[in-house]
Amino acid sequence: MTLRLFSTLGREARPFSTVVPGTVRMYVCGVTPYDVTHLGHAFSYVQFDTLRRYLLSIGYDVKYVQNVTDIDDDMIMVSKRQGGRPIPEIRDENLALLQHDLDRLNVLRPSANPFATGHIPQIIETTAKLIEGGFAYEVDGDVFFEVSKFERYGALNGVGPEELASRENPESKREHKKRGPLDFLLWQVTEPGEPSWESPWGPGRPGWSIECTAMSVAHLGEQIDIHGGGRDLVYPHHENEIAQAECVTGRSPFCGFWMHNGMVQLDGVKMSKSLGNLVLARDLMKQVEPDHLRLYLLSTHYRADADYREGALEAVTARFGRLRSAVVAEAPALPGPGAELVRGGFASAMDDDFNVPLALESLDQAATRILAGSAHDGEQLALAAALATLGFRFAGAAGPAA
Ligand SMILES: [Zn+2]
Repeated sequence: MTLRLFSTLGREARPFSTVVPGTVRMYVCGVTPYDVTHLGHAFSYVQFDTLRRYLLSIGYDVKYVQNVTDIDDDMIMVSKRQGGRPIPEIRDENLALLQHDLDRLNVLRPSANPFATGHIPQIIETTAKLIEGGFAYEVDGDVFFEVSKFERYGALNGVGPEELASRENPESKREHKKRGPLDFLLWQVTEPGEPSWESPWGPGRPGWSIECTAMSVAHLGEQIDIHGGGRDLVYPHHENEIAQAECVTGRSPFCGFWMHNGMVQLDGVKMSKSLGNLVLARDLMKQVEPDHLRLYLLSTHYRADADYREGALEAVTARFGRLRSAVVAEAPALPGPGAELVRGGFASAMDDDFNVPLALESLDQAATRILAGSAHDGEQLALAAALATLGFRFAGAAGPAA
């Protein structure tokens, strides 16, 4: 069986392939480091880390880029609220906390972790090219992408422009200047006191989505294989990224596989800063070991919503114990080929749209056999290898800086 992955664009699972044979170019939208990061971030980054590890295990070279949105409305708001505290200070403080959490969860560090503010020249160049190509227009220092110029707009969401225009759009701003309701800012005039950069359209700062286009092209080239992020980014952010990238490079598709993780809920309600119902990974790691939390996070399929409730961590305690004991147990094995059985069950689940929960089930069965002394030769080693691929430290997985 070969790996099949579900892409949001087209809404189907297809055999995985890459633009450059043997190399996966993967971009995952990173954080806006204006506040604490919560279990939802941990869920997303552990899932994509595990996908990356699986791709490495089946022989791909993986370039994994994850950006940092260090200039936007939220960063500016927090800076003002904290009496004009410099944004880089707020960014560095929150990123250090996130990095500490992700390191403990054994998430591999990205191949590149670019900052938006480190790519202003590329953002300006991309914006200028879009104007030149007739895809964008300037109004008194603001530059908008003109959505009607890109006929595939809406394809990622699988709906037309009218339907999209009726949806809530966190990027919508300066409506009175726009030619069309879906047009979005590539470059914006700053308010007094806000950080700004010189540009051909006067001092200003980037829009949101343009930074991901500038950074993915700068670090991975004009076409990529996997773009990851939370499902809440499908509109408008990722729809905008496709429009920008395909218009500026003239190449389609910008990305082969759009992979979106589900949201993390607390007692059935989406976890979000605005609702104040945040659960933090660092708090859960005071109760259980990081590998235990990782197992909990991987027990939900990446496309499903994870519902965190009281007792959720305890629900995987027995399995965690079995898997860990089975790796180190000095149990007798029956003669006969056992490794193939474990590897086969693991691979067929993973190749079926990265079905980690199913893979864990088959590994748990192997662990049970090992502990009962009814496993066959090679099962224990194969179990440890599969658990290492899933990123568990207890099974010898490579550490974050590897
Ligand atoms: Zn992004």
